[in-house]
Amino acid sequence: MRIASAEVLVASPGRNFVTLRITTEDGVTGLGDATLNGRELAVAAYLAEHLVPLLIGRDAHAIEDTWQYLYRGAYWRRGPVTMASIAAVDTALWDIKAKVAGLPLYQLLGGRSRDGLLVYGHASGAELPELYDSIREHLEEGYRAIRVQTGIPGLPSVYGVASSRNASAGTAEGTDARYDYEPARRSAVPVEERWDTRAYLRHAPGVFEAVRNEFGPELPLLHDAHHRLTPIQAAKLGKSLEPYDLFWLEDVTPAENQAALRRVREHTTTPLAIGEVFNTIWDYRELFEEQLIDYVRSPVTHAGGITGLRRIFDYAAVYQIKSGVHGPTDVSPVGLAAAVHLGIAIPNFGIQEYMQHSPATNELFRPGYAFAEGKLMPSETPGLGVSYDDVVAAAHPYEAAYLPVNRLLDGSMHDW
Ligand SMILES: [Mg+2]
Repeated sequence: MRIASAEVLVASPGRNFVTLRITTEDGVTGLGDATLNGRELAVAAYLAEHLVPLLIGRDAHAIEDTWQYLYRGAYWRRGPVTMASIAAVDTALWDIKAKVAGLPLYQLLGGRSRDGLLVYGHASGAELPELYDSIREHLEEGYRAIRVQTGIPGLPSVYGVASSRNASAGTAEGTDARYDYEPARRSAVPVEERWDTRAYLRHAPGVFEAVRNEFGPELPLLHDAHHRLTPIQAAKLGKSLEPYDLFWLEDVTPAENQAALRRVREHTTTPLAIGEVFNTIWDYRELFEEQLIDYVRSPVTHAGGITGLRRIFDYAAVYQIKSGVHGPTDVSPVGLAAAVHLGIAIPNFGIQEYMQHSPATNELFRPGYAFAEGKLMPSETPGLGVSYDDVVAAAHPYEAAYLPVNRLLDGSMHDW
């Protein structure tokens, strides 16, 4: 089963997505997600200029060999552009293999290990009443676990907080009446935000105390510190949130320094999640072997596809570490579908992030996964269960968009 063609498809149904479509000589097609938020065209060029020519004529069934060929063959290994490109090829080949087998993809990964994937949604609000409304809306939609992000007194905009309901101007997800937060803005240069760590550390524990008082002790609550703290600040935050029993505290320190998590771990029993900016199993070695984290955040889209992420999860399982796959709208429905097939099959599933795509995005991809009673269920059709509508795509051409940058109050650049 030889690969006849591979096309790099870039479309922007409210936000930019990069998709790889591989077609075999028999006419079987497979899709892979290669979306790298804010740097989309770098991956599109890597695929079109450097990988597509290598794919033509290769055996579409040889997934592992193709993965090794592209990873080792590049010589310049790892990094988000390379690994998103490999992920797209890998996912598209799994899609093809499952279609040829006539089975939903998860059946090729060992079959079903659970009824569905527990997901968490994003609730946010500048002030507590708006946050409560957002949490209630998510509960009414069926969510059974909630990420909580709030405004901070003195800061005009904060990571993870939707500016307002129906806030369409300047946001990438269009006019949907939702509280969901989309940080990438369509602008020539990134928007600049301001940050005050001390104000954040003073404010956050009171928010979680208020949410626990309002919604009770049972609801799983998550929080993302978005890589902004020093190790001792992160330790202080984890300790101060312990009374509110978080499901996890995410991205407390910049992810490059794995040893930073050692300091955090010494001081708090709040579970830690990290890895959405990691690309390979090597990025986790120290964190796993020293048991410094509890959940793995890498998405299929950025970690070398189903093959790459499955290997990371198996390694994590040795240390009782579970999955917590990144899944906001900066991975396409193709990437999310791959995560759902993987999550239903692996033994050490933890939770799946699920921030619903816009109607325009779903019209383009028509994903077959379903959300009910707080869980995602995989499509039962052969393959990934996602399609790509070229007519819809043509109506949504690429538009440059950037994630914000972040400065401290004195103007110094800080981690966004
Ligand atoms: Mg995060």
